[in-house]
Amino acid sequence: MGNTVFSKILRKEIPADIVHEDELCIALRDINPQAPTHLLIIPRQEIAGIDGIEDADAALVGHLFVVARDLARKLGLEESGYRLVINTGADAGQTVFHLHVHLLGGRTLTWPPG
Ligand code: 5GP
Repeated sequence: MGNTVFSKILRKEIPADIVHEDELCIALRDINPQAPTHLLIIPRQEIAGIDGIEDADAALVGHLFVVARDLARKLGLEESGYRLVINTGADAGQTVFHLHVHLLGGRTLTWPPG
């Protein structure tokens, strides 16, 4: 049983502003948004990060991106654009070791990231 904050949210032990739920993942609003829209798409399966993905998880990982696309469309971001981010490990600033895709949009996002 996972002990990260996302596992606790998945078990409904911690409240969250959930915007999507299906059999494979949930999506919720980030508690500390970095853009007008900042969602996290989180698989129900406990995978610590990109390096923990196994070949058999390919369809699940693809599903996270399909959900991200659908949410971006639902929020009207497909024209203006948006960014999907997966921080992996210390150098990337990963803080929650349960795989998640950030969906950021609603403002001009600069590049390169800090
Ligand atoms: P990471 O740095 O691991 O890529 O991203 C973790 C994200 O989870 C951060 O953007 C952080 O604000 C968010 N976060 C951490 N704790 C909570 C929480 O309890 N609820 C929600 N909704 N987001 C959280």
